[in-house]
Amino acid sequence: MATKTKLEYIWLDGTKPTQKLRGKTKIVKDFGGTVEDCPMWSFDGSSTNQAPGGASDCLLKPVACFPDPGRRDSFLVMTEVLSSDGKPHASNGRATIDDDDNDFWFGFEQEYFLWDPETNLPPGFPPGGYPPPQGPYYCSVGAKNAYGREIVEEHLDLCLEAGLNLEGINGEVAPGQWEFQGFAKGAALAGDEMWLGRYLLERTAEKYGLAINWHPKPLGQTDWNGSGMHANFSNTALRTAGSKDVYDKICQAFEPRIKHHIDVYGADNDQRLTGLHETQSIDKFSYGVSDRGASIRIPIATVEAGWKGWLEDRRPASNADPYKVAAQIIKTVKSVL
Ligand code: MG
Repeated sequence: MATKTKLEYIWLDGTKPTQKLRGKTKIVKDFGGTVEDCPMWSFDGSSTNQAPGGASDCLLKPVACFPDPGRRDSFLVMTEVLSSDGKPHASNGRATIDDDDNDFWFGFEQEYFLWDPETNLPPGFPPGGYPPPQGPYYCSVGAKNAYGREIVEEHLDLCLEAGLNLEGINGEVAPGQWEFQGFAKGAALAGDEMWLGRYLLERTAEKYGLAINWHPKPLGQTDWNGSGMHANFSNTALRTAGSKDVYDKICQAFEPRIKHHIDVYGADNDQRLTGLHETQSIDKFSYGVSDRGASIRIPIATVEAGWKGWLEDRRPASNADPYKVAAQIIKTVKSVL
């Protein structure tokens, strides 16, 4: 008897201003286990804000495939959306990445809030009130400080078993706020892995009756920290520079392009990039060694290695699309190389 395998085709919809994850299952026989073995598929784009009802078919092109340890006989298939004519859909940020030789490496630090749909608050927030102020929660332990750890641990195990290259997790500054970090050599793959990491997080939290809140400032203009997605990046030039000049030149290329970047760094990011809470103001640009109040931080490790390393753009919000963030960073870096 033929073996049957579940393939979960995952894509980004057309919701504005922040795209959401969608997925549906295809059953295939005698699956070979690689992305090349995943057939093209289609979906109803009129139900996802991606096509009019009269011509509703959009195509799903598989771009990455990982085992799905959370489901029996199953794989996660990341796809990109094409219009019915086979061209990249307007919502397809992955197709805008110009990194054919995978020279760009990206490490994303994904912050997020676990979120209780009943109370519309993170776990750890009593209904109608506030928990004690920020201070004890970051990297904490104990039931008075760390909320939702079982979800975070289960998510981490799933990602590692799937083969996603997570590099760490930590409890964040507000109660119910956490972070995971992913890294990949190649901008498209880095984006694929972050989106699949987000997918597994949403699905894991479902089991506990919780949602994930990706908004960069979900608790409004209070003293609670927002959520970001710091983007660490390098290419051959940055990894082998050996001189401060190369770093200055690349950082300075970002200055006249503030708008290009902020446009894809996440909706409502103005609520987070206020100049407070370890951020630079949204309309300013600065860079500096070890400066967590700068737009771009030059890590001390890069300087100590003789100006060979990477940069960290601290502006992307938690709800930004890592594909679009990477595409814009690559464009700016390439403009001076
Ligand atoms: Mg963090």
